[in-house]
Amino acid sequence: MKAAVFKGKGSVLIEEGFEKPSIQSDEVLIKVKKVGICGTDVGSYETGGPYIPGNIIGHEFSGEIVEIGENVKKLKLGNRVTVNPQIPCHECYYCIRNQENMCKLQNYALGTTENGAMRDFINVKAERVHILPENVSYEDGAIVEPLSIVIQGIRESSFKIGDNVAIIGAGPIGLFAIQVLRVSGANKIYVLEPVESKQKKAIELGADKAFDPKLWNKIVRLTDKIGPDHIFDCVGLSSTVTTSLSLIKKGGCITIIGMHDSSYEINNARLITINSITIKGTYGYTQDVYKTALSLLEQRKIKVEPIITNRIKIDEVTQMFEKLANPPHDELKVFVDFE
Ligand SMILES: [Zn+2]
Ligand SMILES: [Zn+2]
Repeated sequence: MKAAVFKGKGSVLIEEGFEKPSIQSDEVLIKVKKVGICGTDVGSYETGGPYIPGNIIGHEFSGEIVEIGENVKKLKLGNRVTVNPQIPCHECYYCIRNQENMCKLQNYALGTTENGAMRDFINVKAERVHILPENVSYEDGAIVEPLSIVIQGIRESSFKIGDNVAIIGAGPIGLFAIQVLRVSGANKIYVLEPVESKQKKAIELGADKAFDPKLWNKIVRLTDKIGPDHIFDCVGLSSTVTTSLSLIKKGGCITIIGMHDSSYEINNARLITINSITIKGTYGYTQDVYKTALSLLEQRKIKVEPIITNRIKIDEVTQMFEKLANPPHDELKVFVDFE
C-alpha cells in the first residue's frame, strides 16, 4: 500500500510497497477512511521538525475496525472509530494524575514520533480507540483531535461566561475555538485574521467581528478602550504574541495554543509586568477532553462542514503541502480520502 511519508524539511512524499500491518493482542487494525492535514504537519514540513524523517504522517483520522487482537474486549469488527494519537506511558507523575498530555514521553504520538494514519491500514492500541456515535461521520471523527486541542486550551484558561474574547488566526483551530467559546457563553468574540475568506468564515461560525491583524486597535475601541478579557493565540508567532500583549486588558489572560516560532522576539514584553498579564500555554488533551469533543459533535454543537475546504486523494498530498506551506491561502481543513 501507499503512504505519505515525512522525509524532512520541505518534503512529504508518497511511497509505495508498505505491508498491511499485523496486530498485537492488545491492538486493532483499522481500515483508514479520513485523515486531516494538520497545521503541525505543515509546521514540520516548513521547519524540518519535530517529526521524525521516515515516519508516516497522519494523526487526525477515523476508520473502521477490520481486525481485533485476542485481548481486546470492548471493540467489535465493523466499529466506526477515531483514535487518540497520543501515546502516554500510564505510569509517570502526570499520567497517574490524568494529565496524559503532559506525559514524560511528551510528543510521543502516532503520526509524529510513530508511524501515523496516512495509509490504507493502521494498527493501534485498543485503549486509544473511541467509537463514533451513529450520527458522527468519518469526517467528524477525524476532527475530534483538533477539536480536543481547542477544548483543552479553553478549559485550562481562566475564561468565564460573559468574557470578551479575541482569537488570533481563523484557521481550523481558531474556527473551532469560536464555536466552543460560543457554546461556553462568551460575550463578544473578535477575530484577527489576514485572509478575507477566513474572516468571513469566522463571522459565519459565530464571531462578532473579524479584522486584519494590523487593525487590532479596532478591538480596543470596541471594548470601551479596555481590551478583551482573554486572547486565544491560535498561531504562535512573534508578531501574534506582540499583538496580544498590546491588545489584552490589564490583568487579562493570553492562552497560546498555536505553535510556529520556536522563540519569540517581542519588543513590548514589559507590558506583561506593567499590565499584570498572564500568559499560558496548553498542549495536547486528556482522554476526558477527547470524549467531550466527541460528545459536542454528537450533539451537533460544532459545525465541521464549513471548515472543510478540500477533499483530496493520497497522490495529491505532496502538492497540497507545497500550497499549505506558502500562505496566505484560502485552505482550511484538508481531508485525505481513503474510502
Ligand atoms: Zn493536529
Ligand atoms: Zn506518562
